[in-house]
Amino acid sequence: KKNFHNQNREFTRLQMRIMRKRDLASPMSEFLGSLVLTALVWIGGNMVFDDGKTFTGEQFIGFVIVFSQLMRPVQGIASAVSAIHKGMASIDRIDAIADSEVTVLDKQGAANSVAFENKIEYSNVEFRYADKPVLNKVSLEIKKGQTVALVGPSGSGKSTMADLLPRFYDVQGGELKIDGVNVKDVEQKALRRLFGIVSQESILFNDSILNNIALGDVNPDLNRAIEAAKIANAHEFIEKTEEGYHSNIGDRGTKLSGGQRQRLCIARAVYKNPPVLILDEATSALDTESEKLVQEALENVMKNRTVLVIAHRLSTVQNADKIIVLEDGNIVEQGTHAELVAKNGLYNKLVKMQNL
Ligand code: ADP
Repeated sequence: KKNFHNQNREFTRLQMRIMRKRDLASPMSEFLGSLVLTALVWIGGNMVFDDGKTFTGEQFIGFVIVFSQLMRPVQGIASAVSAIHKGMASIDRIDAIADSEVTVLDKQGAANSVAFENKIEYSNVEFRYADKPVLNKVSLEIKKGQTVALVGPSGSGKSTMADLLPRFYDVQGGELKIDGVNVKDVEQKALRRLFGIVSQESILFNDSILNNIALGDVNPDLNRAIEAAKIANAHEFIEKTEEGYHSNIGDRGTKLSGGQRQRLCIARAVYKNPPVLILDEATSALDTESEKLVQEALENVMKNRTVLVIAHRLSTVQNADKIIVLEDGNIVEQGTHAELVAKNGLYNKLVKMQNL
C-alpha cells in the first residue's frame, strides 16, 4: 500500500510540474509579447511625436501591424521546438524495435510452396538462447495424421521445440524437415501456411468476433466461421452476445472470459484449416467449467488432424499416438500412455503427481 502510495505521489508531482510548465507557457509568451509591443509603442510613439520626426504616424502604425503579425509565427516556432523534443524521446524507443535484427531470413531461391503428405522430422536438433542450451540433439518424427504430445517439467524446452516448426527461430544444429525438405529451404510465408497455432496467450484484436476468427481472410466467410466456432465449443457463447458474430470483443478481447478467448483462438485455427495444428495447451489458468469446455474443443479439433500438442494436463494426451517426455532439453522417454506408465519413469511420476 505504501509503495503504491509513493508511486502515485511521485507521478502526481511529475504531472503537476509538466502541466504547470505547459499551462504557463502560453500566458508567459503572451505576456512577453504584450510587453515588447508596449515598449515598441512607447518608444515609437515618442519618436513620432518628437520634433525631429524620424518617421510619420502612418509609417509607425504600419510597422506596428506588421510586427504584431509576426508574433504568432514566432510563438509557433517555440512550440514546434518542444514538440520536436518530445518526438526525439519517442523515436529512440521506436528505433530500438525497428532496427532490431531479423534473424530468420528467407534464403535466395527458397521454394514458395511446400507439401506435407508424409512426415515431419526433427533430426539431432540443437538450440540455445544466447549461451543457454535448450535443446540437445533432439530427434523426433511426426507422421501425417498423428497426434504427438510434448510433456515434461516447465522449462524443459517444449515451447521452443514447437516454435522451431514455423521458424519463429531457426535450428542451430541438426535439421528440421517436412517430407524431406529442410524448412530453411522454404519461404516463411509458404511454410507458415501449413500451421495453425493456438498458443498459451490468446492473441486477439479489437474487432468483431467474425474478423478475429477469420483473421487474415480478406473476405470472411460467416458460415465457415460458424462451423469453426461449433467445433471449438464457442458457437453457443457467441450466439448469446448482443450482436453475435459481429460483436466487438474489446482490446485484446477484454470483454470475454479467459476460456472464451481461448476457444475463439481455437476456432481461428480451425477456420484456417491447416494441415498441422500446434497447440500450446493452456488450461491451467481457467476455472474447471471453462477448462472442460476448452478441453472438449481441443479434443474435437485433434480428431483426424496432424497435431503437435504441448500438454500441461496429462489427462488430455492419453489418446495421443506418441508422447514425448522432455527434461532439460533431452527426450528422456517416448511411447504411448500405457507404455510410459508401464515404464515407471518420469512420465509415470508426472501422472501420479497430477492424480494427487
Ligand atoms: P517449456 O515450454 O518446456 O516450459 P521453454 O521452451 O519455454 O520450456 O523454455 C526452455 C528454456 O529456455 C527455459 O529455461 C527458458 O527459461 C528458456 N527460454 C525460453 N524462451 C527464452 C527466450 N526468449 N530467451 C531466453 N531464454 C528463453
